[in-house]
Amino acid sequence: STAAAAAVEELITPTVQINYTQLLINGQFVDAASGKTFPTFDPRTGEVIANVAEGDAEDINRAVSAARKAFDEGPWPRMSPYERSRILLRFADLAEKHNDELAALETWNNGKPYEQAAKAELPLFVRLFRYYAGWADKIHGLTVQADGPHHVQILHEPIGVAGQIIPWNFPLMMFAWKVGPALACGNTIVLKTAEQTPLTALFAAKLFHEAGLPPGILNIVSGYGPTAGAALASHMDVDKIAFTGSTDTGKIVQELASKSNLKPVTLELGGKSPFIVCEDADIDQAVELAHFALFFNQGQCCCAGSRTFVHESVYDEFIEKAKARALSRTVGDPFKKGIEQGPQIDPEQFAKVLRYIRSGIESNATLECGGGRIGSKGYFVQPTVFSNVQDDMLIAKDEIFGPVQSILKYKDLDEVIRRANSTRYGLAAGVFTKNINTANTLTRALRVGTVWVNCFDVFDAAIPFGGYKMSGVGREKGIYSLNNYLQVKAVITPLKNPAW
Ligand code: NAD
Repeated sequence: STAAAAAVEELITPTVQINYTQLLINGQFVDAASGKTFPTFDPRTGEVIANVAEGDAEDINRAVSAARKAFDEGPWPRMSPYERSRILLRFADLAEKHNDELAALETWNNGKPYEQAAKAELPLFVRLFRYYAGWADKIHGLTVQADGPHHVQILHEPIGVAGQIIPWNFPLMMFAWKVGPALACGNTIVLKTAEQTPLTALFAAKLFHEAGLPPGILNIVSGYGPTAGAALASHMDVDKIAFTGSTDTGKIVQELASKSNLKPVTLELGGKSPFIVCEDADIDQAVELAHFALFFNQGQCCCAGSRTFVHESVYDEFIEKAKARALSRTVGDPFKKGIEQGPQIDPEQFAKVLRYIRSGIESNATLECGGGRIGSKGYFVQPTVFSNVQDDMLIAKDEIFGPVQSILKYKDLDEVIRRANSTRYGLAAGVFTKNINTANTLTRALRVGTVWVNCFDVFDAAIPFGGYKMSGVGREKGIYSLNNYLQVKAVITPLKNPAW
């Protein structure tokens, strides 16, 4: 539209510099032991924006031994929880102060719309640390009444050195989901960022030290998965590993954890989430929400509503409108105002998305719009809509992780429940209906970790997130994350003179 076109002309030019490119170990920025660096890119152009220290096994060793020492000897697990809480709060204040710089760096390195990063993600990031700061001084155990004359205390202790491996699609949010609860519980951390997006975690970790975090507690190692990531997952001195990324890599991480020291594992993995539009739905609203559910963040969301199931009675109208909405989506420089979609993260993901689009065409789904790249520079993909998608097509089964909407037709509730559940994934689902009975039936029947009813992608620090089936193990956020980072110790003492 003309309004949209006028709006996107204004370029936001936030000022941000890249100040931190080394590894952060024991409170110091240091080069990789090997001296190696690797380039990190601007997905708008494919140009190098910085060279970053490339950590590998030896650097993981250095970081783990710093974290081990900080846990075994340092103040953090022994500090008053109130003091820990205050450091988390001071960090949140600093992150809030640097909101626009953090958001600009996130956009520069990841390609997501700056307005989304600055106005939605950074506030959630800050909120999450304040939420866990609130928990820090409210973690306590239990006393239980056992048989016999015994005094029984159940202590909740920090688990130790936490290894954390995060992906590139929400670099700062993933940092928050991992670091917030682990620190609140009194653990120390070695975090490996995704090789595509190493920059914002280094900036955030620097702010943590400014907020008064003692050295050795939060160590950041940039580097690749099979080297640095694998070394962390298999390290004998790491007490817990948390991973977010693809299901295939999640399996590797779990295997490495089990082959080394059986450290407990939490995994946030892929999805193929259904978005179910019922016959009674307001079509315009359903189209808009289904569009958002899939296209948000360039389609690079583990919980993307990537199977849009539409009731046959409203199917034709829905297709027309979904196509029109995709055609009006504003794609371009993510630093421009009004831009809804930036580039995909890198050439691999870009090629993979285009491969899936070809596969959709070859398997005879109907290409309603899109299907190609935009421009000749960077990794921009046209918003793409397929109709007549069948359950056995690859585009209905695999995680595409791009701006490709697959629309499937269904007849009745039992059928859509069966089809929605017939996937190896179980991360999330969307349900769009005005009928409370339909909503209740679907929310109970769907085998997924999150159901959004008449909404989608509503995230909150207090709401747990995670998957059924091959979408993951465990839950993050809310009260549930605390258990991932605590050990339970039972202490039994005889009572000399039982009071009863
Ligand atoms: P990935 O799972 O390979 O990468 C995620 C993280 O794991 C990165 O930090 C990476 O360096 C690390 N890693 C890779 N190999 C490892 C290994 N052997 N041992 C330990 N750590 C390792 O994901 P990707 O290759 O960046 O993307 C591939 C696909 O994964 C995407 O197309 C998408 O389908 C999916 N994905 C899902 C999410 C999510 O949030 N669930 C995020 C990113 C990607």
